[in-house]
Amino acid sequence: MKLIDGKALSETIKSEIAEEVKKLKDRDKKIPHLAAVLVGNDPASQSYVRSKVKSCEMVGFESTLINKDDSITQEELMEIISDLNNDEDIDGFIVQLPLPKHIDATAVTLAIDPKKDVDGFHPVNFGRMAQGLPCYLPATPFGIVQMLDRYNIPTEGKHTVVVGRSNIVGKPMSILMGMKSKVGNSTVTLAHSRTKDLAAETLRADIIIAAIGIPNFITADMVKEGVVIIDVGINRVDDESRKRGYRLVGDVDFEPVSKKASFITPVPGGVGPMTVTSLLMNTLMSSKKEVYG
Ligand code: NAD
Repeated sequence: MKLIDGKALSETIKSEIAEEVKKLKDRDKKIPHLAAVLVGNDPASQSYVRSKVKSCEMVGFESTLINKDDSITQEELMEIISDLNNDEDIDGFIVQLPLPKHIDATAVTLAIDPKKDVDGFHPVNFGRMAQGLPCYLPATPFGIVQMLDRYNIPTEGKHTVVVGRSNIVGKPMSILMGMKSKVGNSTVTLAHSRTKDLAAETLRADIIIAAIGIPNFITADMVKEGVVIIDVGINRVDDESRKRGYRLVGDVDFEPVSKKASFITPVPGGVGPMTVTSLLMNTLMSSKKEVYG
């Protein structure tokens, strides 16, 4: 079994980005600038945004954090998005999800200019991805593609089972794995909560991408020898031995499954760090006008 070390790979990619930023600085070119909008004080969202801003600093990007109270109105939030869309210094921005219940999150996503949508959530970017056109890939799928690519894991002609059909992970991942591209060319099954016999599907899989949100859901009896496992899940389980009272586990029962797997991502330290790195890659692409010209 080989561990796919997302933390180490994300550090490698970050130093590559930092190199590029240094070159831009040396040539007096514009430095990439990412903005993040955070609404409310959900601790998980705060920690995600903090790590995104910290990563920007690490690679030499400029970053702007716009932190708003959860009493913000839809109109006020739309105004902020419109300002960011029109701010020429901002190359890309994200609005951290989830948003408070009184905010229409779909309207927010649709209001972001696709050219600045470095999270890759706007339907224009999703559609361009599906047609193989230049686009910002959603950050988590982009990170997974990077992992498969840099670890030279063959995907062509393989059978990939994606479990979970969210718009930000499962659905785009199922499209990407079937694309005619280096990471792609695989035969894809998209499984979800209404799949009749999930184990029958996963047992046929050469590659399993699990994005479910249920701790240790994929067990060793559900996978075949040599399977490649990409575990997207981030779940908190109670753990009194930890100071904070919980630990993070994935959707895959790591220890027993890793004994059968040829490659596997750990949680934490797998897909998670790659997601932030992808956001930086999209922002760099935006500042270089590589996607929309
Ligand atoms: P989601 O929470 O929106 O949806 C869960 C999906 O799982 C649904 O599509 C559902 O059909 C499927 N599902 C639920 N029960 C099932 C069952 N019994 N059998 C088969 N499928 C079932 O999905 P999401 O937003 O992609 O999140 C999934 C997990 O990934 C969560 O733990 C989330 O925290 C994590 N996540 C991690 C990252 C990262 O950067 N590592 C990014 C996004 C999401």
